[in-house]
Amino acid sequence: MSATYRGIAVSPGIAIAAARVVPPDGSPAAPARGSLAFDGAAELAGFRAALEKAKLELAELRDRTAAELGALKAEIFAAHLSILKDPELASEVERGILEDHLSAAEAARAATDVFALLLAESGDPTFAARADDLRDLGRRLVRLLDGGADPLVLERRSVVVARELSPSDTARLDRALTAGFVVAGGSAVSHSSILARSLGIPAVAGAPDAVDAIRDGALVVVDGSSGLVTVDPDPAELELWRGKAAAWRARAELLEAFAGRPTRTGDGTKLALAANIAGTADLSDALARGAEGVGLFRTEFLYMGRADLPSEDEQYAVYRHVLERMGKRRVIVRTLDSGGDKEVPCLGMPREENPFLGVRAIRLCLERVDVFRVQLRALLRASAHGSLGIMFPMIATVEELRAAKALLAEERAALAASGAPLADTVETGVMIEIPAAALRAEVLARECDFFSIGSNDLTQYTMAADRMNPALARLSRPCHPAVLALIAMTADAAGRRGIPVGVCGEMAADPVCAAALAGLGVTELSMGSASIPLVREALSRVDLPTAARLARAALEAETEPEARRILEGAFQ
Ligand code: PEP
Ligand code: MG
Repeated sequence: MSATYRGIAVSPGIAIAAARVVPPDGSPAAPARGSLAFDGAAELAGFRAALEKAKLELAELRDRTAAELGALKAEIFAAHLSILKDPELASEVERGILEDHLSAAEAARAATDVFALLLAESGDPTFAARADDLRDLGRRLVRLLDGGADPLVLERRSVVVARELSPSDTARLDRALTAGFVVAGGSAVSHSSILARSLGIPAVAGAPDAVDAIRDGALVVVDGSSGLVTVDPDPAELELWRGKAAAWRARAELLEAFAGRPTRTGDGTKLALAANIAGTADLSDALARGAEGVGLFRTEFLYMGRADLPSEDEQYAVYRHVLERMGKRRVIVRTLDSGGDKEVPCLGMPREENPFLGVRAIRLCLERVDVFRVQLRALLRASAHGSLGIMFPMIATVEELRAAKALLAEERAALAASGAPLADTVETGVMIEIPAAALRAEVLARECDFFSIGSNDLTQYTMAADRMNPALARLSRPCHPAVLALIAMTADAAGRRGIPVGVCGEMAADPVCAAALAGLGVTELSMGSASIPLVREALSRVDLPTAARLARAALEAETEPEARRILEGAFQ
């Protein structure tokens, strides 16, 4: 019988597909380094057995897909199979086991990651496209070696249903097969929701009842615009949802026309819409949707879901690739922002009572300068290949900014002395996401080249409302006049010092907020690529002087709903 549940709408669009229910401990842990009782022969035998099993699985998948969906759709599995048969891959795994004393699972993951990176960086689009296949294969091997089925490896289009999805779980979901997702916890600004939006995957968070009720394989409708989840819809309901899904797709297609246009408000003022990315895989979408730059590269995703830290060369290759693909467009890379809901186990940091208020982001980097310096060097080396800005997350004091800049200057001097090619200038920016930083924006503006407002954290810290807690959704609102006041203060300080100010938190992707931000003097809005056409279209209907007047009026509102009502007037 059909049942409908309500959660928080976190990523718009309508998905209709069978459920893939992820058990609470369903995500395989990153394999640990070889233990003291390391047995190379046993690891080798384990790897060879897993290899054979993977070949059998893939051959079966290829044949089943060919029978059900045709030969073309089955090609992907045939390609995976031929990669698995490559002796170079097997010998690299065996070398990892025998020489580096890695467990079979670690060696398989390391080898597939290395080959994937080589392909991604080869400069040949056909090879680069195979990089994800290799990573997929790595996951398959690790799963077989761990002896279980990985519920996040999808084999058909599914709605993923889970108590929680970590950001790294979300990042490794197969985009083509993930129709949507429903999670019990989280909010619109938890990182799995942010990723869902940037991938254009309809999603609902904060829906524990739906998660409890949905059985694996049940037909589920996810409406990521209203937060409704319908399980086992009856035929009439299904028809209705199919109609809504078609209407949604038609609107999305209309909006695509805005992908290739410059961003202008109704009165002709130019703004920049940039993309938030979490890795090289997001670049094609960013370019296809007409991103005018990258406003936020969340580099912590390079550090997640792995047993070791990314090396300087590995990071350099990634940053260089991003800069080269973006050409003349500006790329703002944020230094490692671990902590909060973004756990980075390979840093080996102790557990904290209040991780969102703990040793995270710049605080951690200033403690672990060994880790920070590696990233700064990789960034500086990459700076020669495009237009790079480096920004520091979670700055609370000017001393933190000075310390980060001093380390950057030291690394720059050392690299220059070694003759490494570097860009003449690399601008440095401060993320304004702590009220202390907004209140002292004037001081910070004297010592940096740009601001980027992280409205997700700025809202969380201003309202003292954990961004992961669905019960606090009524407080987690960036249009609250208290948050708007801090944004206005930041924009005014930037204006007085003549430095640009952007917003890269989720509010930038909300058309009403986007108009308000433009009205307050923000000149760059950065968002998940999927939202770019929507915001561009919305801004084309906004008269900037009116938006400016309304934004100032909203600062005087007593409540968030009142402020929002005022701001909505920008579109009339
Ligand atoms: C923010 O806090 O608004 C932001 C952009 O950073 P993140 O969401 O990654 O914390
Ligand atoms: Mg933040």
